[in-house]
Amino acid sequence: MAVTKYAELSWMRCLQSVLPAVRFGENRPQQLAERRAQFDGAEWHLIGQLQRNKVRLAVANADVIHSVDSVRLLKRVNDVAGELSQSIRVLLQVNVSGEDSKSGFAPDGLRRVWEEILEQSWFIEISGLMTMAPEVEDPEDARPFFRELAMLREELRGFGGNPAIHLQELSMGMSGDFGVAVEEGATLVRVGSALFEGLS
Ligand SMILES: *Cc1c(COP(=O)(O)O)cnc(C)c1O
Repeated sequence: MAVTKYAELSWMRCLQSVLPAVRFGENRPQQLAERRAQFDGAEWHLIGQLQRNKVRLAVANADVIHSVDSVRLLKRVNDVAGELSQSIRVLLQVNVSGEDSKSGFAPDGLRRVWEEILEQSWFIEISGLMTMAPEVEDPEDARPFFRELAMLREELRGFGGNPAIHLQELSMGMSGDFGVAVEEGATLVRVGSALFEGLS
């Protein structure tokens, strides 16, 4: 996925012309909505933190939300999607590193609420997990965090099924560490600066 929070529209158009099925990742629902209105065809992912008062805007415009970090927010997204009859995929953000600066479920917190999530009937599709590794010099140092997310996904899958929960996606890896993330099973890498650096 091309993370376009700092990208100009002309760069995005250029990218879409060579990759018609490109996925764009935006941090803010407002910017995502404005930009989506100006493009055809691309898939739009919201990757930044989601405030409750922006849920409607996000659900109405994003194809995938990567940053759901509480059961309360998950239910809110679900309710709004149902009201709008808007199908949407959601990833649960996990704060694997436990850094205060990062949002997300603590791994143990997600384990604790998993049964509640499994038992619910969902309108939305819960399609995977997302994490941000700490900023490190050597991408190898990010590997344990990616590995832990992949293991957590396997563990959660072991608790049983729900027709709305697939967990096929692991959204992990950014410009500095996406190679390591792919080795650990990433299905979505979120790459911004490596694509657009030097263009402005
Ligand atoms: C900005 C951002 C990225 C992309 O970071 P780069 O280092 O520029 O590739 C990925 N994920 C999230 C959540 C971001 O906010």
